[in-house]
This record gives sequence, C-alpha cells and structure tokens, in this order.
Amino acid sequence: MSRILTEVLAANAAYAKSFGAKANLQIQPARRFAVLTCMDARIDPAKLAGLAEGDAHVIRNAGGRASDDAIRSLVISHKLLGTLEWFVIHHTDCGMGMFTDDTMRALLAGSLEAAAFGRDGWRNTGKGPGSTEGDFIDWLTFKDAAEAVLTDIRRIRSHPLVPAGIPIYGYVYDVRSGRLEEVRGAKALGGVARRSGRAATKGGRSSAGRAAAAKRSAPAATEKTGAAKRAAASGKKAGAAKKAKPAAASAKKSGAKPRGKAA
Ligand SMILES: [Zn+2]
Repeated sequence: MSRILTEVLAANAAYAKSFGAKANLQIQPARRFAVLTCMDARIDPAKLAGLAEGDAHVIRNAGGRASDDAIRSLVISHKLLGTLEWFVIHHTDCGMGMFTDDTMRALLAGSLEAAAFGRDGWRNTGKGPGSTEGDFIDWLTFKDAAEAVLTDIRRIRSHPLVPAGIPIYGYVYDVRSGRLEEVRGAKALGGVARRSGRAATKGGRSSAGRAAAAKRSAPAATEKTGAAKRAAASGKKAGAAKKAKPAAASAKKSGAKPRGKAA
C-alpha cells in the first residue's frame, strides 16, 4: 500500500470512530447555500466559510469555473436539494493563471507525464507519447481572478436553468491572508433579477428555509456533535433557531461580507 493510501485510511478510521450524530444529517444542506470554488489545496472551504458537515454544497474544479458541469451541480443543488444562495470564490495565485490553452495542449501532445515549471515556463520532463485530445478541451484558464469571478457570475446568472431569485456572491480568497475579498461589481451582477415573483421568493426563503435549517440543527445540538458544539459556541445556529435571523451571524463567522440587503 502506498504511504498516502495508508495515511488516508488511518485518518478515515479515526474520523469514523467519532462520527456520532453526523449519522443523522439530512441530504439537503442545512444552511441552504452552495459554494463554487477552485480545487487549490490551500483552500479549505469548510474552514474559510465556517462549514460543518451537512451545512452546504461545495462544488470544486480547477479554477472554480462556471463550467457546464459546475452549472449542472448548481442546478441540482437548488432544484433538488434546496440551496437558495450561491458563492463563486476564486483566489489569488491561482494555477489557472499560469498557462494557456495552447500551453496545455502542447504539453499534453508531447507527454502525459507531469510537467515542470521553470524560468522559461512549463516544459515536459517525462517521456512520450502524448495525446492531442487536449485540443478538444477548453481548459478555462484566466489571467485575472476577479475578472474570472465576474465572467462566471455572468454565465451562471444568465443561464436558462438558473432561477432569477438566487443571489450569486463573488469573492476572491487571498491565499496569503485567508480573507475573502468581495469582487467589485459582483453584487450588481449576481443580485437577484427584478421580477414580479421576487418578493414571494424572498419571503419563502427567509421563513421556510431558515426554519428548516434551524429545525435540522436542533437535534444535533442536543447530541453534541462537533458542529453543534461549534455552533453553540458561536451562537450561530442557536441564533438561527431563536431569531430566524442567521444571515448576519453566519456571514460574520465566515468572514464574508454580509449579502446585499438580505439578498
Ligand atoms: Zn486555483
């Protein structure tokens, strides 16, 4: 067995030992939101946004791009699993800014083995053959993270399968500070579209959605899961249950700026 495999299985055995009340979590994310972000190893969405198991959907790919597949997940996240607010979070120093489609295609055409990045950019160090299949993939690279957030929000917002009432927030995560910085213009772009049904949607979200989240978190609190303990400490979910006003608390916890006027 590889060392990594041994380590992962050992870590999982320890995790499962204290799994406790997490066995009773519902399939629907209790806090009813989804995050689309990059697969970068320095990003831990649970930590940076204060998530516990069962809280939210996290959809990840290289760059955190709004690819067809990311949109597929977001649509399922809302349509079947009830999320009502979405975040697009890219980050500083993203690897997607270190190459272009042409670079990737040329590298793959030469060799499938891992390339190396040096002073002159990327170069193959392994042996061939490669494959030209890379020519048929849009690698969704970008140069500017903030700009890419806006591009992705624009695409999600205008997608025919995405309801107008879902606010889409846009942030860049700073891998040097751990902070989320709101992308200028994201709020306007990702805000709920002005349609006649908007008020009704908002009402439904704030009452039914929050009540469901509060209800779901209540049994967990009595069973003292790690999540419940953290929630009790922060007053996050307790606040949600009592006051039905979790937005400010959860936004504060995550370090994210509060959403524009309760969405
Ligand atoms: Zn990245």
